[in-house]
Amino acid sequence: MGGETIQAALRQIPAVQTVLRAMQGGEAAVAPVWMQEGVRQVLAEIRQDVLNGAPVPPLDMVVAWSRERARVLAEPHLKPVINATGVMIHTNLGRAPLPPEMMDHLSAVATQYSTLEYRLEEGVRGSRHEHVEGLLAELAGAEAAMVVNNNAAAVLLALATLAQGRDVVVSRGELVEIGGSFRIPEVMALSGARLVEVGATNKTHDYDYERAITENTALLLKVHQSNFRQIGFVDSVRTQELVALGRKHQVPVMEDLGSGVLLPIRLGDWEEPRVQDVVAAGVDITTFSGDKLLGGPQAGLVVGRREWIQRMKKHPLARAVRVDKMTLSVLELVLRWYREGRGEDLPLWRMIRMDQETLLARSRAFRDQLSKRLPGLGLDIEPDWSEIGGGSMPGTRVEGYVIACTLPPDQLVACEKALRQAPTAVITRVNRGKLLIDLRTVFEHQESVLLETLAATLARIETANR
Ligand SMILES: *Cc1c(COP(=O)(O)O)cnc(C)c1O
Repeated sequence: MGGETIQAALRQIPAVQTVLRAMQGGEAAVAPVWMQEGVRQVLAEIRQDVLNGAPVPPLDMVVAWSRERARVLAEPHLKPVINATGVMIHTNLGRAPLPPEMMDHLSAVATQYSTLEYRLEEGVRGSRHEHVEGLLAELAGAEAAMVVNNNAAAVLLALATLAQGRDVVVSRGELVEIGGSFRIPEVMALSGARLVEVGATNKTHDYDYERAITENTALLLKVHQSNFRQIGFVDSVRTQELVALGRKHQVPVMEDLGSGVLLPIRLGDWEEPRVQDVVAAGVDITTFSGDKLLGGPQAGLVVGRREWIQRMKKHPLARAVRVDKMTLSVLELVLRWYREGRGEDLPLWRMIRMDQETLLARSRAFRDQLSKRLPGLGLDIEPDWSEIGGGSMPGTRVEGYVIACTLPPDQLVACEKALRQAPTAVITRVNRGKLLIDLRTVFEHQESVLLETLAATLARIETANR
């Protein structure tokens, strides 16, 4: 198109008001601000296309696109998705899902006044720590406990309180990075403690720690290798040995467990250390996450000696990393479930412990339903495995099954993308040239929406490629 034709085409682009008027009625109520924004965005894109030589689309198409854009804009940006990846603690998808049974309590605490920092008996100010401290200490077999915003904050607060201006001895094999920007050396620097590295990447012995201990040593720190594993010529000092060393030199010992677990779990040759065992071994301060293997809300849990925990509570940083009432309300219930012997009823643990037959039966029934909707599609049940995820139990597998959907390579990629962008987003895995659906991480109540979304998306992509 020549310059003049483009000018003429630009003049044909409808005005915002014209599109808005044509959009009246039909759709369910979307706030006017999103309608206007939707139209504005669509018209700006059309204008760009026209400048590149495209024709002006008819008004009904502009209206349809604007409606769709307004619908997307009106939705919350943080929204639920269907996790069909089989990764149970999926860091990008919100880690551990919480039990629906706990939501009424969460809502009541959040929408009304509560006992957050109030003691009903005396009618005086209380502390937010009181709600879970007893429960958590009891479960861990520790003298005292404290909860902060997340485990990164727990480690920072512990180091700042116990070791500011002094030395912390850590093995070179445990200077880990967790993801995001949590690296032990950097957190150490931020806390004001001085890192004293000992041993080698692959091996650290007890004499390495012992040689590094001076009168300026505040802490011996052990960091759980929670998101990687070392194989071959490796050795590290076990928790018990480190405790013995600490006792001998009167230096406290801290262990950052990362994904602290209260229930026994063993996958292949990997056994995750339980919080209670670490405490029983004599570790003075233990830190772990609320939303990794515990299966609760995001939080940083600290258990250990009363003296240290008291000091942590009084540290100025404690206020900056404190936990909020919504998290506390759910965390208390999660810990109560553990106390009641119902830890395995938590959604995360149901997924981990889901038996093979149940998963196979669900997968078959779902495959049959999908086959009925899309008779021509290649759908198989294949043995596969899920991951715990969230930087927990690296390299281990939870054996299971997936529904494998065979598609031509170009459709495979288009389908994975279209599912992510569907009104209810579905996150899948692509492997072996197939689209894989792992029902382990899909809740039963999500199955009908998953079926509709898959049927609609696959049918659309097949038609488009015919
Ligand atoms: C995950 C992890 C952390 C950080 O915990 P968040 O709850 O994500 O803040 C710290 N240390 C270790 C060893 C971890 O595995």
